[in-house]
Amino acid sequence: MSNIVAIVGRPNVGKSTFFNRLVESRQAIVNETAGVTRDRNYGKSLWNGVEFSVIDTGGYVVNSDDVFEDEIRKQVRLAMDEADVIIFAVDVESGITDLDIAVGNILRRVDKPVFLVVNKVDNVQRHMEIHEFYALGLGEKLYPISGMNGSGTGDLLDDVVAAFPKKEKEEVIEEGIPRFAVVGRPNVGKSSFINALTGEDRNIVTDIAGTTRDAINTRYNKYGHDFYLVDTAGLRKKARVKEDVEFYSVLRSVRAIEEADVCLVMIDATRGMEAQDVNIFNLAIRNKKGVVLLVNKWDLMEKDNSSVNKFTEMIHERIAPFTDVPIIFMSAMTKQRIFKALETAVEVYQNKSQKVKTSTLNEVLLAAIEKYPPPSIKGKYIKIKYVTQLPSPTPSFALFANLPQYIKDPYRRYIENQIRDQFNFTGVPIQIFFRKK
Ligand code: GDP
Ligand code: GDP
Repeated sequence: MSNIVAIVGRPNVGKSTFFNRLVESRQAIVNETAGVTRDRNYGKSLWNGVEFSVIDTGGYVVNSDDVFEDEIRKQVRLAMDEADVIIFAVDVESGITDLDIAVGNILRRVDKPVFLVVNKVDNVQRHMEIHEFYALGLGEKLYPISGMNGSGTGDLLDDVVAAFPKKEKEEVIEEGIPRFAVVGRPNVGKSSFINALTGEDRNIVTDIAGTTRDAINTRYNKYGHDFYLVDTAGLRKKARVKEDVEFYSVLRSVRAIEEADVCLVMIDATRGMEAQDVNIFNLAIRNKKGVVLLVNKWDLMEKDNSSVNKFTEMIHERIAPFTDVPIIFMSAMTKQRIFKALETAVEVYQNKSQKVKTSTLNEVLLAAIEKYPPPSIKGKYIKIKYVTQLPSPTPSFALFANLPQYIKDPYRRYIENQIRDQFNFTGVPIQIFFRKK
């Protein structure tokens, strides 16, 4: 189950500084293995053994001093929809402002844990000045921190992590049954597709405060497949926040992506694959989820016999280097290939769950390694002796070598390509580690 923390607050209180502190060390690890660019506004963090995602909502709105209250409201609404815990950051240097009061007024009515964090408390002197923030009426406890030097952040995180909702026992997810999430920008056709598949009208909006659960996994047994569809508040609700700001739909997809095994990333054929689509795709990859790309509204396209190839090429350019992804050209309206889409998602789930036998792996890979061994460095030969798939939930491979530290990225890619050529990991991000033997 995913835990999501959102940071809200007006510009310049230090949200992104604090965000960076939270995700920094963690990000380094993630980047090294996944080889994807980091997102300025979304990252993973770890505290007391609990993993959680952090969203810096500030990064998604206009970051200037004359930002409108309206903009901040959107930011807060978004956090309310998407997060488990909200961190409301204020600034001791500037003291309380009208915008702080406006945000405080909204957050007082939220039924999720809100932490009032007073930032820029870099020293004892500043500590004396925090009390004015009690006036925001957000409870007994203030959290003085310095995002810059890190003081106070430990106490804050202890309490944040303790505030995550406990796993809901009522919703038991059966192991081995794939969980799918259909994600994409507004109006690409997600609801139409799901309605076409499940025969239900999911456009019904339940928006009574406190009644919308964060994630609901509905189990289906249809067309010979047993699967869950992940449905989150963010996807279920028809935009309470008007989706006029880049990235809002990315945020709306975060929880669904985290809850799923395979993400069906839907794009609108008439619009091509735009930056925001790529962001959603990358979010899935970064979370090591299986991916199927659905090109919807294919019925609207004027086609000739090179259309599919051209479109595929365009997509590959955008999603490189990870292009081993199934692409389905479909129409939720005419129902063209909607079952194919489901079937492909099931296949990707199987690819993601497979464990390759160590003997087979060694047979295939050691031959490939012998053919192209890692280049020697400083006159030393690098010998890879043994390969095994790790017992991790997403496909990871460990290659044991005498000098693993000398193996470079191009060689890692060679190994990855060999694995993809020889086994079927289509739609699945894989990780490769070199270890000392
Ligand atoms: P955001 O707009 O809320 O994301 O704020 P930023 O993280 O961009 O920070 C705004 C300014 O405050 C920058 O100049 C930061 O260097 C500064 N700042 C951030 N955190 C601290 C802190 O803990 N102490 C002090 N003194 N300055 C800080
Ligand atoms: P969502 O916001 O992603 O859930 O998108 P919707 O399912 O609400 O669809 C947005 C609009 O696109 C609606 O007017 C749909 O009727 C239309 N639409 C969805 N799928 C298709 C399709 O395959 N072909 C065509 N022509 N229109 C579609």
